[in-house]
Amino acid sequence: MDLKTDPALEGFRADVRAFFANEFPKDILEKTRRGASLTTEEVRKSEQALGQKGWLATAWPSEHGGPGWSLEEQYIFDEELERAGVPTVTPMGVVYVGPILYTFGTDAQKQRWLPGIREGREGWAQGYSEPEAGSDLASLQFSAVREGDEYVLNGTKIWTSAAQHADWIFCLARTDNSGKKQEGISFIISEMDRPGVTVTPIITIDGKHALNQVHFENVRVPVDYLIGEEGKGWTYSQYLLGHERTSYARIGGKRKQIRHLREIASAVPTGGNSRLIDDPDFARKLSDASLAVDALEMTVLRVLSAVKDGGAPGKEASIIKVLATTAAQQITTLYLDAAALNGVRGFADSVSPGWLEGDASAAFAAPGVSVYFGTRAQSIYGGTNEIQRNIIAKRVLGL
Ligand SMILES: Cc1cc2nc3c(=O)[nH]c(=O)nc-3n(C[C@H](O)[C@H](O)[C@H](O)COP(=O)(O)OP(=O)(O)OC[C@H]3O[C@@H](n4cnc5c(N)ncnc54)[C@H](O)[C@@H]3O)c2cc1C
Repeated sequence: MDLKTDPALEGFRADVRAFFANEFPKDILEKTRRGASLTTEEVRKSEQALGQKGWLATAWPSEHGGPGWSLEEQYIFDEELERAGVPTVTPMGVVYVGPILYTFGTDAQKQRWLPGIREGREGWAQGYSEPEAGSDLASLQFSAVREGDEYVLNGTKIWTSAAQHADWIFCLARTDNSGKKQEGISFIISEMDRPGVTVTPIITIDGKHALNQVHFENVRVPVDYLIGEEGKGWTYSQYLLGHERTSYARIGGKRKQIRHLREIASAVPTGGNSRLIDDPDFARKLSDASLAVDALEMTVLRVLSAVKDGGAPGKEASIIKVLATTAAQQITTLYLDAAALNGVRGFADSVSPGWLEGDASAAFAAPGVSVYFGTRAQSIYGGTNEIQRNIIAKRVLGL
């Protein structure tokens, strides 16, 4: 696929770029650039800016309110979104549960939930993991017991991203204990403000509040909050994970970081007349990272071409997950290398003013460290990379 030579696609790219330059809220871009966390209101503002334009649910089929873009247009849009530094769209609604709802939901469920997701009005959280069920997700114990026209939910979900911003949560819940552990799991939705739901924040090593523990105590939801068939939740959850793992690619953002690193490395002196970019070890690592992004891009295009007609990415999504997250970790390690050298420069400045030019503490250093820690988590969430390698070995390579 050559995205660079088609004039129609270049016109599309120019329109998207102009939107981000002129119409997207500047305060949000500025806060994100500084590496600061957004409030719930700012997350909504950011996503509604896309939603009002019809550019939030970009991969949805047009019959469900997607923009009807080709794969190439979607790809260019994602590149431009990341290039502009737009905050990552909270994927739980638009990338994860949206496709489940339009694929397996009833008409009433589609009408109830899809508009709020694609317009960015309602936030969602993903209630899969539990304190005793992570990689072995099928061993989950969170229960849903049917009583008349309601399910009664009990249990604890953990590592729940963005639950503090969410209006809704989709949960994997055990409705039957009698068969194989994958059977008897159901896909059930709840409002976050239902009586009996409490959220406890988890602050991570990057200093951010992105994660939570969500407790359910006798939470009653109507039976029509069940998606699809009772006991078939495992099948739906796996469908969703294909979308989730493919969404980690974020190639535009990675290319932007590589360009930024080149700029930084060209400005950071390492002693004498040499700069960080002239350091063979750093230059090699930067080239490796750049090649890793090229390889990721080829894989993404190959996987997405196969799902062009509205299907879900297959087990190959696990390859994307591993490539994308290891590339992100390579890149953010290079930021740390640069920040460390900059720290030395700052020290040198303080003992020998004027020895080196410029500000002692680089603007990229603190966000760089926070992002470095944040990207360590990428090889854990969405199913750890060890688990993905097991999937690749067994189901992609047939070993
Ligand atoms: C930042 C972040 C955000 C998250 N967001 C969400 C969210 O929004 N919703 C949600 O439901 N969950 C979320 N998670 C949870 C995430 O999906 C789990 O942490 C992940 O699936 C691993 O489960 P665990 O933490 O219980 O680790 P464990 O399953 O206990 O694994 C511990 C270690 O053992 C290894 N291991 C386990 N089994 C095997 C095996 N069979 N073969 C080889 N190695 C193995 C793992 O790779 C890992 O290194 C998030 C996690 C993080 C870190």
